[in-house]
Amino acid sequence: MGELAEMTINGLLCQECGGYLEDFEEPGYPRTCEDCLAYEKNKKRPTKDCTPS
Ligand SMILES: [Zn+2]
Repeated sequence: MGELAEMTINGLLCQECGGYLEDFEEPGYPRTCEDCLAYEKNKKRPTKDCTPS
């Protein structure tokens, strides 16, 4: 597993866009940044599981 993936899993990077979280902390679990959270709230796009390929 790469370093970026580890940083994402530790919560340092957003699991959606890969950007740094605003508090630069590593709680030890994957997190999503405020931008991505706001995006998901405003645009309720279907999850990949529901999208026919
Ligand atoms: Zn993000």
